[in-house]
Amino acid sequence: MRAVCWHGKHDVRVDEVADPQIVSKGDVIVKVGLTCICGSDLHLYNGYVPTMKKGDIMGHEFVGEIVEVGSGVSRFHVGDRVIVPFPISCGVCWYCKHELWSLCDNSNPNSWMLEHLYGDTGGGIFGYSHMYGGFSGGQAEYVRVPFADVGLEKIPDGIPYEQVVLLTDICPTGYQAADNCNINPGNTVAVWGCGPVGLMAMMSARHLGAERVIGIDRFPDRLQMAHSQCRAEVLNYEEVDVAEALQNMTGGRGPDSCIDAVGLEAVGTGIEGFYDSVKQTLRLESDRASALRQLTKACRKGGTLSIVGVYSGFVDKFPMGAIFAKGLTVHAGQAHVHKYLPHLLKLVEEQQLNPSSIITHRLPLEQAPGAYKTFLNKQDSCIKIVLNPQA
Ligand code: NAD
Ligand code: ZN
Repeated sequence: MRAVCWHGKHDVRVDEVADPQIVSKGDVIVKVGLTCICGSDLHLYNGYVPTMKKGDIMGHEFVGEIVEVGSGVSRFHVGDRVIVPFPISCGVCWYCKHELWSLCDNSNPNSWMLEHLYGDTGGGIFGYSHMYGGFSGGQAEYVRVPFADVGLEKIPDGIPYEQVVLLTDICPTGYQAADNCNINPGNTVAVWGCGPVGLMAMMSARHLGAERVIGIDRFPDRLQMAHSQCRAEVLNYEEVDVAEALQNMTGGRGPDSCIDAVGLEAVGTGIEGFYDSVKQTLRLESDRASALRQLTKACRKGGTLSIVGVYSGFVDKFPMGAIFAKGLTVHAGQAHVHKYLPHLLKLVEEQQLNPSSIITHRLPLEQAPGAYKTFLNKQDSCIKIVLNPQA
């Protein structure tokens, strides 16, 4: 089959590789109908994750049709069209039982890789390097899906793949970001980053009752999308002092909640990155993680920081003093997609939510190398790219 494979920094290729096989009785094989490129894939593409190997298959956002089922699978049959959450979860460990699905204890055989630095960390993720389990990803014609009975959702008849493909990741991620803000009537939510995740967070904040939503970015097309799709007020961070503008917009108090949908801003990760960021901190010359510092500064006292942008390594200059002095609540982490998926699917079916409105590019899988470049550089008014492996 054909698959998008990682070959190094800024080097992905569509290679001919072996078809996936059923390995465990809980597996299914999915023929991928649509798959997306995610902001998280850019961290791999930028070479920040040292546990990628040449030839690893990329992609954690995909939907498709089941073409083979393991002997232990009971909920699904050949021919079912399914949405596959990006985190892999066993469904029976303490974390899965407590709806902390992305922190599953049994889905990442390589969790030891980070344990000496972080303690016990999260579960497996499709196509997201060996420290997340080394699972092949879904930017391919076919993919093996373990623990298929856990968390996969059947796509109702008549709903095209495009309408549900963003439910695999960024829609639940944005929803969790907003949900963690515990939005009350009258609240203002500010969102750093108007990429796909930020847009989903703004849409969700609106849905959960935020009175005002403020989107921050530097790309006019993205700010425009935030305004038109999420009724957000917008700030271009290249044109204004964001913290000051937010104070002025909120009667001097600051937003009630601040969402980070930016993540790594060229902060190295893994072993190389740890050294890199430590050195940068010592030299005090880094302006990395500036969004994270800005949202901490801008948030009102007693407010909430909801961090869904992906970080790794040691992020320098995180103002712990401000968090303490302002009494902020901090939420962070990979999305618990399984927790939100059924509810979000219902909202899409009832046409209360239309995540696919942010898709700007529809391309065959073959064009993945160019698509990664376009998405990295936000060229061609690109917001969300979907790839079709069957085209
Ligand atoms: P993206 O690259 O398309 O969007 C990021 C946006 O942030 C860009 O538009 C960029 O211009 C903007 N930005 C950069 N610096 C900024 C700053 N200082 N202030 C305001 N905006 C700034 O990526 P995406 O797909 O939207 O993903 C965003 C982040 O969410 C990534 O870090 C990704 O890894 C992460 N993510 C997390 C989860 C999760 O489960 N927690 C899931 C999916 C993606
Ligand atoms: Zn993603």
